[in-house]
Amino acid sequence: MTIKSKPTPVQTHSEGLTKKRQDYLEWPEYFMAVAFLSAQRSKDPSSQVGACIVNQENKIVGIGYNGMPNGCDDDLLPWSRSADNKLDTKYPYVCHAELNAIMNKNSADVKGCTMYVALFPCNECTKLIIQAGIKDVIYLSDKYHDTPEMTASRRLLNLAGITYKQFQPKQGRIVIDFNSINHPGLKTSSGFEGSHHRLRNLEHDAKYS
Ligand SMILES: [Zn+2]
Repeated sequence: MTIKSKPTPVQTHSEGLTKKRQDYLEWPEYFMAVAFLSAQRSKDPSSQVGACIVNQENKIVGIGYNGMPNGCDDDLLPWSRSADNKLDTKYPYVCHAELNAIMNKNSADVKGCTMYVALFPCNECTKLIIQAGIKDVIYLSDKYHDTPEMTASRRLLNLAGITYKQFQPKQGRIVIDFNSINHPGLKTSSGFEGSHHRLRNLEHDAKYS
């Protein structure tokens, strides 16, 4: 009696079988990164916030960042956080990222959509989120958690049945490397791979400098 051994699986890695990239950006990372990239447009010297609205087909339908209202010269309005007169602060004038993302929508409405936003929304934006029909909020920072505005936000979101969840990024940073397109064959050429590589270098530098 002979026992046939199972055929050993063919090693494909050296045979030129190209597999798909494994380290591509997943949807949540991608949408939060879009929110953060948008925030880079902000003129606010102390706070840059971005928001990205996504429909149920994972399509982006609105992007916004904090800034002065359309047509209002942002060189003629104050950007300070405190002043003797509130009219000399940014607060009465600035439009938050969430407001702009909703107003910038390129679809008929944003009902049932998810909003990715860098900062947990204030109570005024929460009102807009609710009225616009957004169903989920994914935020990164909750640094104003204990303020009355954020407490009011949570109260409203809970009552309206809107879920909110803090985003846990899989990596601390995503680097956009314009040079990566010119070096498609290199393992570390893509922005994402490059970021790991660069991060390692930074860690290395920090450790040994
Ligand atoms: Zn707000």
